[in-house]
Amino acid sequence: MTLAEIQQLVARRQYRYSEKVRNLIEEGFFDEEDCVHCILSATRIYKSERDELRQAVHGMKYVILGRDTRGRPFYTVGKGIQGPRGRLYLYITAISQLTKPMIKARRKPMMTETAMLFEYPCPECGNGVVRTTRIRNYKTKIKGYPFVVDEALVGICDHCQAKHFAPEETQRWEQLFAHSLEARHAFLTPQEITWLRTALGLSMEDFARLIGATRQSISAWEKAERTSPPSRTADLLMKLVRQALHGSKVDVVSVLLEEAKKWGIVIQIQDIPGPAVQHATIGAQGISDG
Ligand SMILES: [Zn+2]
Repeated sequence: MTLAEIQQLVARRQYRYSEKVRNLIEEGFFDEEDCVHCILSATRIYKSERDELRQAVHGMKYVILGRDTRGRPFYTVGKGIQGPRGRLYLYITAISQLTKPMIKARRKPMMTETAMLFEYPCPECGNGVVRTTRIRNYKTKIKGYPFVVDEALVGICDHCQAKHFAPEETQRWEQLFAHSLEARHAFLTPQEITWLRTALGLSMEDFARLIGATRQSISAWEKAERTSPPSRTADLLMKLVRQALHGSKVDVVSVLLEEAKKWGIVIQIQDIPGPAVQHATIGAQGISDG
């Protein structure tokens, strides 16, 4: 295959990807969009290797070096497979593991065609057929956070049971996750952030400096139609400050327990002795341990 052919497949979303790749996406190492961007930004196929399963449409698998959505070097490995309706698909088997920030801009929801997402010979074992399988309460992770999809469509090989994933479907999961966050009021709203900053009498610059963010981030978080919510740490800190400004005693542990519930994290506080608390004192000589 030529790079142009591969790029066309990816641009038309005629690609599928392996469980290994899905796991990396779930853990938040990168987004599916990074694979797409990598392939679309590549200028040549870096390397072609014979497909050891002798099952790729052109007998070869391709290593493609490009850039991720933030412009950093990224590689994708894939091979051509015969998909539903005799169409050609790129099956992505490996990608680089660059770390990325946890939250990125959301794209528009997409509808999933229920039939014919998969139904091709399994590129993992070469012996079975990947069947489109409807799974209820499918447990996945979005950017590292546990999430349950009411009804998920996953390709499962009827021979080796390898799972296969399609962007038409997994991007829908990300949308469901984003909507559920909004519905559960997981982050402070833009209006709440603006109120908090104004109540502290701070400009965006100073507020950014105070909480360790950038002015651009604050501006993005305060936009009514924002595409990215605050970072988790900033959101937590702002909630604590808001509680203090409302005049209530700030109970950090209660806030953390409440937050943990929203994110599917279980906190069980253990009554164990910790190291003695060291108090720093500021004297004439500067900071010293007291
Ligand atoms: Zn298989």
